[in-house]
Amino acid sequence: MIEKSPRSRREVRFSGHPISPGIGIGPVFEAAEPVLTVPHRKIFAADIAAENARLDDAVSMSRKQLGKLKTQLAHLPEQSQAELSPLIDAYLQMLGNSRLMRRAKIQISDRLLAAETAMMEEAEALAAEIMAMPGADHAGRSRRADEVREIARRVVRNLTRLSFRSFTGHAPGSILAAETLRPSDAALIQPSHFAGVITEEGGADGHTAVMLRALGIPAVLGATGVLEAVKPGAIAIIDGETGEIVLNPTARSLSAARARLAARARTQRTLARLQLRPAETTDKVPISLQANLELPFELPMIAQSGAHGIGLMRSEFIFMNREILPDEDAQAEIYRTIVEAMDGDPVTIRVLDWGSDKDVEALNPYMPDTGEANPALGLRGIRLLLRNPELLETQLAAILRAAAAGPVRIMLPMVGFQSELLAAWDIYDRVWRRLKRRNLRLPDHRPPMGIMIETPAAALAARHLAKHADFFSIGTNDLTMYTLAADRGLPMGSKLYDPLEPTILRLILETAAAAAAAKIPVSLCGELASRPEAVPLLIGLGIRELSMHGNAIPRVKHAIRNVSLKQCTDMATAALNAVTADEVRKIIRGM
Ligand code: PEP
Ligand code: MG
Repeated sequence: MIEKSPRSRREVRFSGHPISPGIGIGPVFEAAEPVLTVPHRKIFAADIAAENARLDDAVSMSRKQLGKLKTQLAHLPEQSQAELSPLIDAYLQMLGNSRLMRRAKIQISDRLLAAETAMMEEAEALAAEIMAMPGADHAGRSRRADEVREIARRVVRNLTRLSFRSFTGHAPGSILAAETLRPSDAALIQPSHFAGVITEEGGADGHTAVMLRALGIPAVLGATGVLEAVKPGAIAIIDGETGEIVLNPTARSLSAARARLAARARTQRTLARLQLRPAETTDKVPISLQANLELPFELPMIAQSGAHGIGLMRSEFIFMNREILPDEDAQAEIYRTIVEAMDGDPVTIRVLDWGSDKDVEALNPYMPDTGEANPALGLRGIRLLLRNPELLETQLAAILRAAAAGPVRIMLPMVGFQSELLAAWDIYDRVWRRLKRRNLRLPDHRPPMGIMIETPAAALAARHLAKHADFFSIGTNDLTMYTLAADRGLPMGSKLYDPLEPTILRLILETAAAAAAAKIPVSLCGELASRPEAVPLLIGLGIRELSMHGNAIPRVKHAIRNVSLKQCTDMATAALNAVTADEVRKIIRGM
């Protein structure tokens, strides 16, 4: 919070997490949450069957409501549907024969708890268990815990007939203000009815944030103190890009915000026109732009982004949020769907990169108990796969089968030593020969296998590794972390973790030069690829292929189309001579 003046009419400014870009201007509509209190109630043993039946009714009503919500999604933009539908599916799954439901029923019969008490207690216990799981993915665990609480609340509301939250009765174009918003609340929001969303609580990583981004509503979450200061109906301006909220704006602030709104609309129009234009510099050097895929629901968005293929498919998602690992057939089906959806454009599938902050519960039995104090510097990525070759073999077999449907490349994560790459080739050879013997439908030629360059060791040994890799892809997220010895989870803008440090640029140059000398393709798929201001510099360092979040492609393309190769190489030469990241920033801004 920058300044606070409780419920006055004076202009006051707040700041929160910028969630979904865009400027929203409108009257504030405060949506309060109906209170849900569940007393601890017991039943008689004779009522167990009746209580179970009550629970079953409430569950089936919840299923119906969610089913209806799913049909309502049809009115939302395609991208939003693709984001929301898997979440509703996850809720529906929890209403089936899930751990939560099984345990709630045991509480009813064994402890003689009323259905709503059993439901709430079990949800809390399960949420606490999820939060206590090992691993650094705190945000992921907290999301899953919230989902469990959320579905329990829905069932309890249906058991107790308490009302749900409603987002009606507001003036069109209002700014929705709430203490907190749950994903299911966000699913009820009609994007055309609201100019923006602000909340007191909520972070940048939660499902609510993902959904608001998908709905395309400007949003700022976690603006502490804003509700205390706002009067319903008062005008607010929110900037979803900077995270700033202005309450009771002066005429001057209003006209500045309107000017930014118009400028943004113009930029959006220009970017939309770029979709079918080539990504090339002003002197016609083509740059290949591909998309990173983390979850299958991103596929439609990637299709609309103008990406030419998938440069990094993080296969971790296939293994997350499930109790049983997907077998070869199940994996092959998922990869095939993605390859087919890309319709002839290449798909680079990275084999499982788990360990460290990428905590995958179902893989815990495969994690050797080495008591590592610092998993980021221990068993992770290829190191774990080589310890569990059966996992790698299954995944490679599934990918090879999917490769019959279109061009595929296989990528190994976290390579640091040549011996790891050679060991992976032995396994790959073996799997290929075995599949040939099984007479399965396979591609005519064995798909290329390349490596991520995301450790300083790999970047510095790129010349040697290039002899054994079919391609390189530079992962600047980890490369920055390991080179600078600074956690990638540090807050944005941290001085310690900065991929624009000249040391990182030198490693990118080294890798690009090694790939060029060995005549193998090299791309860059870390977050740096999605930063339009950094892209000319990357081109100057020798990168011609970039892979990024699909949403970033139009802006990156715009940056490429406004720069010449000479400008890019001049910028790179200057940046390589810089001593600090701030100097590099000045150089790239000076363009
Ligand atoms: C990277 O490290 O830059 C990368 C792309 O891999 P991930 O972010 O999945 O670790
Ligand atoms: Mg990485």
